[in-house]
Amino acid sequence: MEQKNTVMSQMKIDYKLLDRVFEIIKHNKELDQSFQSILEEIGTFYGLSRITVCEYDFINGNPIVSHQWLREGCQPYFLNQNKKSELDFFESWNFDSDLYCFEDVTKIDPIDRLCYERLGIQAMVQCGFYENNQMVGMIHFDDCIQIRKWEKEVLDTLTILTKFIGEIIIHIRNKKMLQREIFYSQAVFNNQRLVYYFIKEDTYELVNYSAFIKNLFPNLKIGEVCYKALFDKDSPCETCPIRGLSKNNGRSSYEFYDSNNEAWFSITATSMNDMDGQKIYILGISDVTGFLERVNAKDALTGLLTLSRFEADASRLITKNSDKNYAFLYIDFDKFKNINDEWGYSRGNEILYHYAKISVKHLNSSELACRVSEDKFIKLLTYEDRNQLINRVIDVYGKIREHFTVNFPDVNPIITCGIYFLMPEDKVISMAVDKANLARKSIKGSHKSDIAIYDESFHRRVSKEIMIETHMHEALKNNDFLVYMQPKIDLKTQRIIGAEALVRWKLPDGKILGPMEFIPIFEQNGFIDKLDFYVYEKTFQVLRDILDTGKKALVVSINVSRNHLNDSHFIDRLNQLVKKYNIPNELIELEITESMFFKELDRLIYMIKKLREYGFLISIDDFGSGYSSLNLLKDLPVDILKIDKEFFMERKMNNEDKIVISGIISLAKGLGLKVLSEGVETKEQAEFLAENSCDMAQGYWFYRPMPIEEFVEILNES
Ligand code: C2E
Ligand code: MG
Ligand code: MG
Repeated sequence: MEQKNTVMSQMKIDYKLLDRVFEIIKHNKELDQSFQSILEEIGTFYGLSRITVCEYDFINGNPIVSHQWLREGCQPYFLNQNKKSELDFFESWNFDSDLYCFEDVTKIDPIDRLCYERLGIQAMVQCGFYENNQMVGMIHFDDCIQIRKWEKEVLDTLTILTKFIGEIIIHIRNKKMLQREIFYSQAVFNNQRLVYYFIKEDTYELVNYSAFIKNLFPNLKIGEVCYKALFDKDSPCETCPIRGLSKNNGRSSYEFYDSNNEAWFSITATSMNDMDGQKIYILGISDVTGFLERVNAKDALTGLLTLSRFEADASRLITKNSDKNYAFLYIDFDKFKNINDEWGYSRGNEILYHYAKISVKHLNSSELACRVSEDKFIKLLTYEDRNQLINRVIDVYGKIREHFTVNFPDVNPIITCGIYFLMPEDKVISMAVDKANLARKSIKGSHKSDIAIYDESFHRRVSKEIMIETHMHEALKNNDFLVYMQPKIDLKTQRIIGAEALVRWKLPDGKILGPMEFIPIFEQNGFIDKLDFYVYEKTFQVLRDILDTGKKALVVSINVSRNHLNDSHFIDRLNQLVKKYNIPNELIELEITESMFFKELDRLIYMIKKLREYGFLISIDDFGSGYSSLNLLKDLPVDILKIDKEFFMERKMNNEDKIVISGIISLAKGLGLKVLSEGVETKEQAEFLAENSCDMAQGYWFYRPMPIEEFVEILNES
């Protein structure tokens, strides 16, 4: 800009004005109050219309007009509120020097001019003032009457005066901010029961202390030794938390009981350097009686600790006995709800009470037990070596079982237990407890084992589950779930008459995950809903393509997860999808696994009937894998029975297997069902099934599950 002015090396100052300004300051004790007079003096001296001081208000974070002098009749200066912040404004102000001025507003850039004309300015000088090289404010000297030529002497004097005024403003502002800071921190110290004191490293001499301590010890003096002055001791307190500082990341606490006050106190130490760089300790004491009482509560039924108290005590014990090995046990009763339902709550409570009493009898003084809730307990035990602990647990188990057999012979309660051996890197008690619980869950209801130990395989399993849950959505979007087809064979003609759609997950490294690795997780987290419909859609697409090529129609089966049972829209959604690909419903077979028939049977039968009304085929999958009831078969409105592959796993079938299989086949056929055998792996099995009138088979002997393209190719060849 041509008006931009550079203050040249040699300054010309009007000392007369400077003297008058100093004079004003000299006669005003309060700097703050002298401002108005100074501005007036300058304004009158140079015949200006207005002087405005703009500052950045650091407390509220916005620009403000902090002082202003106006000649009579002149309108006040106001800040342009459109500017983002005055700080931006200051920064964008492109100075070559501390000063910007113009002599005639009509001669400046039209865009800039608008802003000045708005303020009635004809000629102007703007000077900035700085703190730590950052502009924190500026002074505007305006002439609103006429254009004017700014003499060098005027500009130099205004520059100097701005610097001078700026210094005063910054000084006053910093002082105010400091006073404010002191006011609020003192308010905290004086109004709270804060017991704080600062001591020197090594000597324990008091450097400072809070107002509350001063009230408690009116004669206390800086320089006295804390243990003598505050605790009336001749040497540092044994429990002083300073001792634990080096171990505990610069913070250490200790709780103690004060019998005089009948209260628990917690004393915390932290360290820091004082203003001279000398190390000092800050000690804070707080009354934690209320807190401890809250977590102190014992379980009303068993008298064991509550979980929160257990966690607090466990944490303290483990820290205190750092030379000992610890393990957490998570214990749960099997089907305790059934005990309550069958024998009543009071009998249930009695069992829990007895269990707690026996458990406590077998604890030593460095060990703990708590009741988490209902029939769940946690123990913290010490051990020499892992086998010794496992033997000890088995031994106590035996004693509990004996006790139960004698006292509750009719109920026969069973307990399962998960063990987690605490590692030095374990910091959070609740996480260690979770691991013991995870081990317990792995055997709950399995009837196989009473005790499970958390080991690396658990860790791997949990990490894998986390991996699966993290990537599932992305995998679905990227089409990483692949649909494989496994052909089904008509045992009479030995030709392909159908196929089952089976999902796979292709990982980024090319590895293929089988459905058993992720479907149970998806059934838990609900993602199975999305995945199944994805598989259904891919399957219907294939079927559509096959039909379009004019091939003989074939039935394709899809697996129905148990989650769909509770989805009232499942059938509608399925119908819509089938319609979208224009597939005749009778070409679609829905496989419902046998285990689904054990829960909510009525609901399932209702759904099956509905699906069959729409023309879908229904099969019972994995028949014979669980507690299948042949009796149930006659009540089930299904079309096909799929005999579970377990029967054919042993490559050579024994006679009993053969009898059972031929029995199932003839019974099912007697009921009008078609029968398919899954997992057929050998020629012998295939022949046996054909001889026994099994209609269809599916298995590696014929075809493995294969990618869609391969399946289409095989169909083309046959
Ligand atoms: P399923 O429905 O009983 O499927 C048959 C399983 O037997 C498939 O295992 C198949 O690969 C396997 N198989 C086939 N022939 C043989 C054989 O000769 N020998 C042996 N040992 N196994 C054979 P896969 O593919 O691992 O699937 C396991 C289970 O995962 C399925 O059992 C099904 O319950 C479920 N699943 C698969 N895909 C889906 C899906 O898209 N949705 C739902 N909800 N479940 C699915
Ligand atoms: Mg199946
Ligand atoms: Mg099956």
